[in-house]
Amino acid sequence: MLQTGAYDILFEPVQVGPVTAPNRFYQVPHACGMGHLRPQAHTAMRATKAAGGWGVVCTEETEIHPSSDLSPYSEQRLWDERDIPALALMAEAVKAQGSLAGIELVHNGHMADNLYSRIPPLAPLDVQLDSAYPKMARAMDKQDIRDLRAWHRRAARNAKAAGFDIVYVYAGHNMTITQHFLLPRYNQRSDEYGGSLENRARLIRELLEETKEEIGDSCAVALRLAVDEMRGEDGMQAHEEGRAVVEHLAALPDLWDVNVSDWPNDTLSSRFGPDEGYETDLISFVKATTGKPTVGVGRFTSPDLMVRLIRQGVLDFIGAARPSIADPYLPNKIAEGRIDAIRECIGCNICASCDALGVPIRCTQNPTMGEEWRRGWNPEHIAPKASDSTVLVVGGGPAGLECALQLGRRGYRVTLAEASGEFGGRALRESRLKGLSAWRRVVDNRIYELRQMANVALYTDSALSAEDVGEFGCDHVFLATGAAWRSDGTGRSHHFPLDCDDAMPLFTPDDIMAGRLPEGPVVVYDDDHGYMGGVIADHLAESGLRVTFVSTASVVSPFTVYTLEQERVQRALVSAGIELSLSTSVAAVGPDSVTIEGVYGGARADLACSALVMVSARTPDRTLEHALGQYAGAPTFEVVGDALSPGLIADATFSGHLAARNFEAGREQAEAALFRREMPAVPSSSRSDTP
Ligand code: ADP
Ligand code: SF4
Repeated sequence: MLQTGAYDILFEPVQVGPVTAPNRFYQVPHACGMGHLRPQAHTAMRATKAAGGWGVVCTEETEIHPSSDLSPYSEQRLWDERDIPALALMAEAVKAQGSLAGIELVHNGHMADNLYSRIPPLAPLDVQLDSAYPKMARAMDKQDIRDLRAWHRRAARNAKAAGFDIVYVYAGHNMTITQHFLLPRYNQRSDEYGGSLENRARLIRELLEETKEEIGDSCAVALRLAVDEMRGEDGMQAHEEGRAVVEHLAALPDLWDVNVSDWPNDTLSSRFGPDEGYETDLISFVKATTGKPTVGVGRFTSPDLMVRLIRQGVLDFIGAARPSIADPYLPNKIAEGRIDAIRECIGCNICASCDALGVPIRCTQNPTMGEEWRRGWNPEHIAPKASDSTVLVVGGGPAGLECALQLGRRGYRVTLAEASGEFGGRALRESRLKGLSAWRRVVDNRIYELRQMANVALYTDSALSAEDVGEFGCDHVFLATGAAWRSDGTGRSHHFPLDCDDAMPLFTPDDIMAGRLPEGPVVVYDDDHGYMGGVIADHLAESGLRVTFVSTASVVSPFTVYTLEQERVQRALVSAGIELSLSTSVAAVGPDSVTIEGVYGGARADLACSALVMVSARTPDRTLEHALGQYAGAPTFEVVGDALSPGLIADATFSGHLAARNFEAGREQAEAALFRREMPAVPSSSRSDTP
């Protein structure tokens, strides 16, 4: 049925303990902000990946007991039998597509605050919780360890009852108690669980043995292990203890899922890492050492590299979280020889941000991610056109490109007009900044698709006025005209323009992206708190300018905490020699200095500089909308993307996609399709139960 040719090897079945995966594409466990609170959304999202060809599809981490309660984050939960039905829903849906379903059991130790359960957290030692919550986890005694093993065994039994094929013991990401037992900095016990490597690995060994004993007849048992913590001598290193642990446990798991720790190192953003295969050198010894099926990750999207890794004996499975999020149909596209149609992950980590934000996952590249159940969206299918209407999309940034693409796929006759000489808008502009080159993929993928469509006409160098639109004579217009950064200092702290001396050269990120660089020394003022302020400062420093970074936030680029980058962002600025002035606001701007003041008080000071870059707020470009509103011959129109509400690129692609899906759906239908919600089950007698 499928033409695979050079990539045949990727579609070979692989035996894992008592089960067989249909191919080598393996969606490793990854967070998705759905978890136990949103079982139907979770099921539909995972099932979409199975439909797209992923031979193994796993859950996110699954708490085994209320003493590992990650609230307010919504991960999976298998505290007891009552959690089986929600998980069975997912296992069944994945297996119905012919894939294997995996579940990652976890006890998070002192990474779980137990805010909902209020149980004192557990750890190998008395230790401060990892969060800001001022509480300690208590050192486990022998009975606690016996209890933990019993909870894990029960969870494994329940996982099997829920229908899972692969059951994990999880020791990675610095988020699991098993890994904490392994690491001397968390485990200084003097009993048989501390000291030697054999002792520190004892808990993992016991959990593996007991899981196999409990369910190993019909389920494969996987170990997810971080073999290197990327902390040098301060942590586990792949060529030292990491290898020793693998050798010690080699024969036990049916499958090794190996990576590096902690989460920001494993889910490394493209801003701070190479495109593909960045973990390979550190994990490549595992398969040779254990002889067991091995899965590894590294933001793989190139089938040639995948084939090479299999042939070289490095991996048996191509593991993926982000590539499976950006393109749930990646395996099928390879199978069908449609390599150019793969929607490649850009490594922006917006998907990861949703876990910490406690909302369903979303993706810059794939606007349907997280919307499979609540909006019924599929990345590869969209309703055909409802009429023969002709459509004009004005603006070729991420919103306009996505809108035109989906309208084109629906079969409408679409014209996309872009004012500048190139398509891409902000995605193209931002990709020219330091570290963001991979973001260009937002443009490349869409332009490639659009160029295949006979019903879509693409025009650059076409700045349209209301008259142009009227004369063009289409039935409907989507205005994706974007937004511009403000230069007047209006932002989070200043709700009115700053008092700026005319002699001070003012710049915005748009100037820097257009290659208009200031002459230094320069102050970058961040009152936006997204990624842009830090990127601009880093970019200017690399251009040879002396930079002072002033921000009203208490850390550099606070939003990047959610994308797992904040520590790297701040370190990058420090190592570039950029002076940081945090929790500081710009009060006034003179001809050759800015006056700064502490957000929490303190004396004002003057900072000498030759230029000021404002990274504060954006103004939606609604010029054309207003003009069309005045223009008698205007067709119907609507605004999408940053022109509607400036945000992330992910917001823009989503907005363009949503508008294209809803086009001519009818108001009632569009409202009904707003989204479905998962409602808590409320027993009819609950009112009388309320005290
Ligand atoms: P979004 O993120 O919403 O897609 P962008 O700022 O990335 O927004 O893209 C908006 C694009 O719209 C820019 O490339 C800009 O050149 C283009 N544009 C703005 N006004 C017009 C216009 N009147 N005619 C054609 N293109 C326009
Ligand atoms: Fe990749 Fe960004 Fe999508 Fe995550 S949100 S899968 S990092 S493109």
